[in-house]
Amino acid sequence: MEFLTMSTQVQELRGRLLTFMSEHVYPNEQRFYLEAERNGPWVVNTVTEELKPIARAARLWNLFLPDPEYGAGLNNLDYAPLCEIMGRSLLAPEVFNCSAPDTGNMETLHRYGSEAQKKHWLVPLLRGEIRSSFAMTEPEVASSDATNIATTIKREGDDYVINGRKWYTTGATDPRCQILIVMGKTNPNAANRHEQQSMILVPKATSGVKVVRALPVLGYYAVPDRAAEVWLDDVRVPVENILLGEGRGFEIAQGRLGPGRIHHCMRLIGLAERVLERMCRRTTLRVSFGRALADQTVTLERIAEARIEIEQARLLTLKAAWMMDHVGNKQARQEIAMIKVAAPLMAQKIIDWAIQAFGGGGTNDDHFLGAAFATARLLRLADGPDEVHRNQIGRLELKRYEGTDPAKTGGTAAVLSRSEALYVGANNRWPAVGSGAVSPGDST
Ligand SMILES: Cc1cc2nc3c(=O)[nH]c(=O)nc-3n(C[C@H](O)[C@H](O)[C@H](O)COP(=O)(O)OP(=O)(O)OC[C@H]3O[C@@H](n4cnc5c(N)ncnc54)[C@H](O)[C@@H]3O)c2cc1C
Repeated sequence: MEFLTMSTQVQELRGRLLTFMSEHVYPNEQRFYLEAERNGPWVVNTVTEELKPIARAARLWNLFLPDPEYGAGLNNLDYAPLCEIMGRSLLAPEVFNCSAPDTGNMETLHRYGSEAQKKHWLVPLLRGEIRSSFAMTEPEVASSDATNIATTIKREGDDYVINGRKWYTTGATDPRCQILIVMGKTNPNAANRHEQQSMILVPKATSGVKVVRALPVLGYYAVPDRAAEVWLDDVRVPVENILLGEGRGFEIAQGRLGPGRIHHCMRLIGLAERVLERMCRRTTLRVSFGRALADQTVTLERIAEARIEIEQARLLTLKAAWMMDHVGNKQARQEIAMIKVAAPLMAQKIIDWAIQAFGGGGTNDDHFLGAAFATARLLRLADGPDEVHRNQIGRLELKRYEGTDPAKTGGTAAVLSRSEALYVGANNRWPAVGSGAVSPGDST
């Protein structure tokens, strides 16, 4: 199928990335976990800072950004196999300046920032000199419905004054974090609830910004996530700090979340691959009750299931990436939602099996399985909980069948399945919902 070919550029990058992982990333992982454990969430780990210049010099830098001027000029499908390799290690994405939430924030600034905002914040982010946070979620409201976000952004003369409580603001405890993209309400009375919110740039050093505590993720601090609670008390920033304009927060969120979500999935596939690889090696070597653990039927069964699920998730991710490239993030939203549900669940299950196979040692980070499990688990919440994505998938599915019952339409209306549609899409044509060939007799 056309969508599975890898360009020469990607093959070349892939080869160099694999070499870099073997030479610099894997040998430093134990140090990374030890540093994170000892330093905690408020301190920069030296290992990451040491490796970043090496990755940059090797031109394995900002590969996520499609714009060739700022990044590598790769589309989503090109980036998928590379992002997957980075996902094999929890240390790697940041080393290549390809880690969340910075990638999403850089995309936001790149797409929606003014020239001055880009110069001030995007350029140092792209150089890996500073880091950033995205502050949307709030402890007081169900934030999976972003219309609930209650932080206020009020205009006063040439400034906006911001008040609110945020939490799970990834990266805010990091001393390198200098800029927060904050979501809040500028237009609370707008009739359209999706036009009440705005996004605004808030330098972390602004008076009134308080990072009040680091939050553990399933007991882990710093790795996999430097989550934090952040209070915004009478924070005053100039009006120029608004992104795109008042009431445009949802529009930006839509643009930001598509690539961010699929990148998480690409990385999770790499993580699951590596975990399966290690599970195979370990169970082959470890002998219990007279035979290798790998010889137990239960182990074989789990290894087989893991392989099946990884392949399924990868194909769905590639399909979603291909659609984002060819028909846009909006048309691809069902696939993005599907993979955002499937990939974390797949990875969580495989890592759980690996923990079981590794015994007690599987619960700590000697084999990095503890942090890997926390990573997969947190991604069933971050960037939207599973249930919300399932609701969206279900609603889109229902919509596709509206007015298509052949018993009522005389067999003229029809629906292509999402997979059939892929073949049509290969010619760069995309069928409108409810168009295409009919299957007579499909009537309910
Ligand atoms: C480690 C980590 C890092 C994060 N990083 C960031 C970040 O950098 N910036 C940021 O702004 N946020 C971040 N988040 C927050 C994350 O996006 C939210 O936790 C998530 O959107 C859910 O919002 P909530 O926690 O308020 O849960 P709620 O909205 O209170 O939802 C609770 C639960 O209710 C259920 N639920 C909700 N809606 C529905 C529905 N429609 N149908 C069925 N069930 C439903 C789901 O099971 C959901 O988990 C992070 C979260 C974690 C765990």
